Amino acid sequence: MATDFEDSLEKVADEVLVCTKCRLSETRRHAVPGEGNSSARVIFVGEGPGEQEDVQGRPFVGAAGKLLTELLGSIGLGRDDVYITNVVKCRPPNNRPPRKDEAGVCRKYLERQISITRPKVICPMGNSAIRAFLDSEKGVTSLHGMPVEKDFITYFPMYHPAAALYTASLKKVMEEDFEKLRGLLDSMVD
Ligand code: URA
Ligand code: SF4
Repeated sequence: MATDFEDSLEKVADEVLVCTKCRLSETRRHAVPGEGNSSARVIFVGEGPGEQEDVQGRPFVGAAGKLLTELLGSIGLGRDDVYITNVVKCRPPNNRPPRKDEAGVCRKYLERQISITRPKVICPMGNSAIRAFLDSEKGVTSLHGMPVEKDFITYFPMYHPAAALYTASLKKVMEEDFEKLRGLLDSMVD
């Protein structure tokens, strides 16, 4: 039974929707907490909401989201099977990358979402998300598609789907990385 002390994705979302802890709250239309399965084995983390996400209050619903949904489908996963969120929950103006202080204060929400869902695998997509989790000088070009174990979680860095929209050749790389992710998930016992 849920107690008052038990954290939940709903509780996190309620707080995010009214959060004013950083300057991004001043320019957002809707905060975007994230969505998906509360016991997802895999979580996808993007950089921050874009324009469509800001309008709809849902993560990855624009062009990049369409590609993400397609890539998930290619390995037999639906959006309901996973959890999808971002490093910052409010859209940075003109889609600039989130600043360090913004990502820093917003991090508590992301950490709570991870403690609640307890995923086996976290897929940070793109450099902003990779930097939020992995203390590495390297970027997505050298880290993508290779699992990194840290604190009992497996991180599986990926390109951001928006990158594949700009650079067509990256779509194939992303498809291959999703195949690798499928293999990784299949190799893990629950
Ligand atoms: N890009 C992101 O990083 N996140 C979204 O939710 C949408 C686009
Ligand atoms: Fe709060 Fe995060 Fe939005 Fe900043 S980005 S206002 S910390 S929810």
